[in-house]
Amino acid sequence: MTTHNPGDNADETESRPQSPRPTAGELLARAMRLRCPRCGEGRLFSGWAAMPERCSVCGLKYERAPGYFLGSTYINYGLTAVVLIAAYFLFHDGFGMTNQQLAGPMVGVCVVFPVLAFRHARALWLAFDCHFDASILSGEGE
Ligand SMILES: [Zn+2]
Repeated sequence: MTTHNPGDNADETESRPQSPRPTAGELLARAMRLRCPRCGEGRLFSGWAAMPERCSVCGLKYERAPGYFLGSTYINYGLTAVVLIAAYFLFHDGFGMTNQQLAGPMVGVCVVFPVLAFRHARALWLAFDCHFDASILSGEGE
């Protein structure tokens, strides 16, 4: 009687040259530079908003599934909320502006900031995913 070891299927990934797994700080730095989370060299965007399918250096597939980057909207929302709250307290408490004076500019922040943060929100989402799911970096499931 033979026993099946679930780790037997790992032969293919073990033969692939492995670079050390990036730390959370490295993943964050690569995201802020809009670089590939696996190699840190390939660009995440080929234009302002266009993403290539794969990293030009290591071949990492960026969009793992249809709708994969929907999760980046949560990051974008959180970043926008933090910036909005910080700006409100800075201008309301720091500079004494009234709520009526701040309403218009705050609406402007809510519209403009998410557009400006779009690329970094996607990069952070990908880095976040790579941090918690190491199979992305090892190339499993490609
Ligand atoms: Zn890469």
